[in-house]
Amino acid sequence: MPGRPEMKIVSVVGARPQFIKAATVSRAIAQHNASAGDSIREVIVHTGQHFDENMSQVFFDELAIPPPHHNLGIAGLTHGAMTGRMLERIEQVLLDEGPDWVVVFGDTNSTLAAALAAAKLHIPVAHVEAGLRSFNMRMPEEINRIVADHVAKLLLCPTEEAVRNLANEGVRGQVCNVGDVMYDATLLYRERAAERVALTTWNVRERNYALCTIHRAENTDDPDRFHAIWKALCAISRSIPVVFPVHPRTRNLFPREMADAGTNGIAIVDPVSYLQMTRLEASAKAILTDSGGVQKEAFFHKVPCLTLRDETEWVETISLGWNVLCGADTERILAGWAAIPSRDRIDGSNPYGDGRAAHHALHRLLECQ
Ligand code: UDP
Repeated sequence: MPGRPEMKIVSVVGARPQFIKAATVSRAIAQHNASAGDSIREVIVHTGQHFDENMSQVFFDELAIPPPHHNLGIAGLTHGAMTGRMLERIEQVLLDEGPDWVVVFGDTNSTLAAALAAAKLHIPVAHVEAGLRSFNMRMPEEINRIVADHVAKLLLCPTEEAVRNLANEGVRGQVCNVGDVMYDATLLYRERAAERVALTTWNVRERNYALCTIHRAENTDDPDRFHAIWKALCAISRSIPVVFPVHPRTRNLFPREMADAGTNGIAIVDPVSYLQMTRLEASAKAILTDSGGVQKEAFFHKVPCLTLRDETEWVETISLGWNVLCGADTERILAGWAAIPSRDRIDGSNPYGDGRAAHHALHRLLECQ
């Protein structure tokens, strides 16, 4: 019979980017256990925030994430209702499991609910991807990450900029820069994606298409912003194919444009798997996105990015010349497109760590008992 592990961790996930971040930490735990005799037990809680097969299960399968021990099935509600129900259910899970740590990732409602539930039970919280700020309090993600950071005991930052943001806010927890776990994931899966995923799936050729994703509330909830972006995409698609894996939120909101898309060179497709996305990103001529993760992955693959927002948390991608903020402004997007930087122009510095962020994070957690 195995004895009680030295440390029990509850990891809480719920949305697509969190599966990718959590996969790297679960992998680091498995590697630690292989050499240290199963001393860490990880209990995975899936809140259910994203539940479609192609927004959830495909990531567990492809990234070999252990199946969740608890699936709370909470989705499709307003922010308050969703967060409230998660808070209540996660609290019960934590009372039952009695973990030493709760690990939360990024900035979703699942992050907020888990961080609050744990903090109120005096269970230490570790926040992976702490310290990011857009300084835009209208973003639900900004509220979630600020609260999570202020109740966390261990703040695991992806960059020095994030460390500085936390210093400016005077958070109480222990702050360290471990690097970006999404960079770990890119390094781990990039080759596999190139081997296993063919661009012919989308009928496009290397460097001869643009990749687009849109799902931020500021763009999907505001028809004027969405239409301005759509106009720019239509113009771009007259010279080069645009592949657009559509987030469920975006598809539901704009049926007319989506239905017309096939006729104008924009390939509207369902959300793709992580390996497919990695391949699509790495081979694109340029990426247009309002996603945080996709902006950064564009940088990892050294593919120019036009960000369809007015600000970004990932300021290094801008200062190093790989990313341009275009807002939701047709003219700015098209000007950005006309001026996308060539690949050989830019310096090779990387502010996102050494590709072992998940290991460093786990190490910090073990030290911070
Ligand atoms: N992603 C994916 N399939 C898609 C779109 C995105 O696997 O169809 C991945 C992408 O590679 C990145 C992550 O999802 O790792 C980003 O998630 P998302 O854009 O949903 O959230 P954000 O990063 O903006 O919080």
